[in-house]
Amino acid sequence: NKKDSKEKTYKIASDTTFTPFEFEDKDGNRVGIDLDLLDAIAKEEGFKYKVTAVGFDAAMASVESGQSDAMIAGMSITKERKQKYDFSEAYYDSKVAFAVKKGGKTFDNIKDKKKAEKEALSSLKGKTVAAKVGTVGATYANENAEKYGYKVRQFKDSPTMYQAVLTGNAAACFEDFPVISYQIGQKNLKLQVAFTSESGSQYGFAVKKGKNSELVEKFNSGLKKIKDNGKYQEIVDKYTKTK
Ligand code: GLN
Repeated sequence: NKKDSKEKTYKIASDTTFTPFEFEDKDGNRVGIDLDLLDAIAKEEGFKYKVTAVGFDAAMASVESGQSDAMIAGMSITKERKQKYDFSEAYYDSKVAFAVKKGGKTFDNIKDKKKAEKEALSSLKGKTVAAKVGTVGATYANENAEKYGYKVRQFKDSPTMYQAVLTGNAAACFEDFPVISYQIGQKNLKLQVAFTSESGSQYGFAVKKGKNSELVEKFNSGLKKIKDNGKYQEIVDKYTKTK
């Protein structure tokens, strides 16, 4: 009934630190592109929500178990995930990259992308790399591990994964390009992108398959409105434009 859905507070799970999509600012507020978009959309559509930052893998589990109604966490829309989740329209384009310590070799200058990938992954032979549990970056790293002879160590969150590379416990970390490039460019993280995959993915807001379809509709409707009125671009620019 109408009243119930109006007053419902949706429980939305998110990642902990996936800058600039979700992170804690210096005043301790949880902000970022995902959280600001969600807020603008909720205001447009008039729904209430509460976000909990549980981590990426935990957010997926939380939606699957029904503990959370939805998630927004820079989550890539994939064919496999569509079997368990329903996604909103895509709201951001991404690619998987791997980063090494600053001063390391880069393969992104090689024009032939297939050759670049081969050389980049070959450079990891005999090494241990870092990836975040449950992500498309981890899938990509794992898919190529045997062929290229490296080991994958999985981490729960992005900061500990970067740390593993900085301390030399991992030779590289697999992360989404918009996230790792932001860390390097704007947060002065002492890593550099060695390789960016050719194939990309798009981020979507997700609910458990067959559940909360009205929430996905509201998200899509609000997303369209904030794209039309400039709010979407304003939010993206706020976090990605260098001042
Ligand atoms: N976009 C990646 C994925 O969906 C990573 C998301 C994240 O780490 N928050 O797997």
